[in-house]
Amino acid sequence: MNRINIAIDGFSGCGKSTLARDVARSLKYTFIDSGAMYRAITYACQGNYSQKHVLKILSGQPAISISSDVDLIFDGIALGDELRTREVSSNVSKVAAIEEVREYLKNVQQALIRKKGVVMEGRDITSVIMPHAELKVFITASPQIRAERRYNQLINKGIDVDIASVQKELQERDKMDMNREHAPLTLVNDAIVLDTSNLSTVEQLRTLISIATPMIDPSLTSGLIKR
Ligand code: C5P
Repeated sequence: MNRINIAIDGFSGCGKSTLARDVARSLKYTFIDSGAMYRAITYACQGNYSQKHVLKILSGQPAISISSDVDLIFDGIALGDELRTREVSSNVSKVAAIEEVREYLKNVQQALIRKKGVVMEGRDITSVIMPHAELKVFITASPQIRAERRYNQLINKGIDVDIASVQKELQERDKMDMNREHAPLTLVNDAIVLDTSNLSTVEQLRTLISIATPMIDPSLTSGLIKR
């Protein structure tokens, strides 16, 4: 059996985190939510998102580590729901566009993938962080479906929102993520595209596991000749 690395990128609200977490759990691999790291730096800004202030936070060299119990440990503090507020969601793409932030988190993320057996999701994982991952996936879903999923998540958390503003926020974030200068969200040539619009979470998991399994156990396809 081979251990492989799986890199997942895609738009906001496509269900990347749920899928990546499910795949990691099913394969007993390490799950890394890179978006949580950008959100943690945004949260630490406490409302001041100027480049000067963000760089000041980075100069303190905050320690960032992952744990299976919480979303992230940032400078010794366990963070979860604080990372998913509307304030953080509306400002994270601005913070993520700063080159120094990307360099800082690139080092953190690449230190976590020294061993195989990682499923990491984000926006630049297939292109910059794990360009040599054995399996690269780009997740997409229709704008309406994405807005509905995110709306339901927020309502279930007791956050009062309307669906039109949720859709607008997702679109604005995608636009910024695709058009920024440093490490924009892109579809790399060797990624498989998965449209989750009409798939349940179980179907999404089944699809990815069926693609990953022959890579992990090549004996399943031995004798097949690629033409
Ligand atoms: O995945 P999530 O929605 O939590 O990501 C929040 C934001 O963090 C994205 O909209 C993007 O601006 C930034 N991000 C990024 N690169 C990554 C992961 C997230 O720029 N690898």
